[in-house]
Amino acid sequence: MSDKKQVQLDWDNLGFGYIDLPYRYRAYYKDGQWHPGQLETNSQITISEGSTSLHYGQQAFEGLKAYRCKDGSINLFRPEENAKRMQKSADRLLMPQVPTEMFVDALKQVVKANEAYLPPYGTGCSLYLRPYLIGIGDNVGVHPAEEYLFSVFATPVGNYFKGGLTPTNFLVSDYDRAAHRGTGQAKVGGNYAASLLPGHLAKQQGFSDCIYLDPIEHRKLEEVGAANFFGITKDNCFVTPKSDSILPSITKYSLLYLAKERLGLDVKQGDIYIDQLDNFAEAGACGTAAVISPIGGFQIGDHFHTFYSETEVGPITTKLYNELLGIQFGDIPAPEGWIVKVD
Ligand SMILES: *Cc1c(COP(=O)(O)O)cnc(C)c1O
Repeated sequence: MSDKKQVQLDWDNLGFGYIDLPYRYRAYYKDGQWHPGQLETNSQITISEGSTSLHYGQQAFEGLKAYRCKDGSINLFRPEENAKRMQKSADRLLMPQVPTEMFVDALKQVVKANEAYLPPYGTGCSLYLRPYLIGIGDNVGVHPAEEYLFSVFATPVGNYFKGGLTPTNFLVSDYDRAAHRGTGQAKVGGNYAASLLPGHLAKQQGFSDCIYLDPIEHRKLEEVGAANFFGITKDNCFVTPKSDSILPSITKYSLLYLAKERLGLDVKQGDIYIDQLDNFAEAGACGTAAVISPIGGFQIGDHFHTFYSETEVGPITTKLYNELLGIQFGDIPAPEGWIVKVD
């Protein structure tokens, strides 16, 4: 079905934008069950104006990437973890779970059908995959929908760091994105709606994004915009925050494993107090989109805290970056079960 001939895009200047590719996957849930999904060519969807996803935020999404390897094969990075996370998000918002097998099959179908747009090995670019699950159907009251759409689309995305890794700065926000017993652990649009204003205010002041503190006391570090935080202490411990209101990043769990098993560091999930950042030699943000983004410093009120450097990247951050990308692009052996081939 797919025309496999490689489409040439401006790989060096490909950002993180939407490109309307030939195929996307869609499956509908109706009468209490999922009906067989299929690839479709039209990027537009038509849904009821009463859809719960439009009014009450009954929707969840995922994000992961497909990577072209040196030998021409295609890697998906831990896609079953995305399936499980979307199932948890679905539970939180009373939506039907998308079975793991159906989820991974949809990803593979979309990658294969759009293979011509999968960036070549060596460009540093990859094919971003966006699964989403939304409540649809005629409705107006506040209750879960009876019908749902699960879809996956793809778009080629650029190398975040064209000229190599570069640190950026962040502004500590007075706003919260999520509450402890709210939806912070679910990958749902509502958390993002809440993050638009604080993110905008930070960017307006020249920062990459904002930092969220814990919603109860505003003393502990939680998230770095839409990415998880990690720090490397001066005695070589990889630390990430533990909290009920942060999104469990698959990249973060992967780094916890790699830091320990491959780099031989101590690792810890725990509290990170915003007034105790001097313990850290290096800091970064991690996620599928952010990959590993070194953090130069934080603006905390009138005070600017510099981590490793505002211009240079620390040695451990660099090692973690090389290890993670090496695994994703198939250059370094992956831990058991991390890579799923698309064939
Ligand atoms: C998706 C997401 C992340 C990163 O998760 P990955 O699984 O590593 O891509 C981090 N924070 C938020 C708020 C997110 O939505």
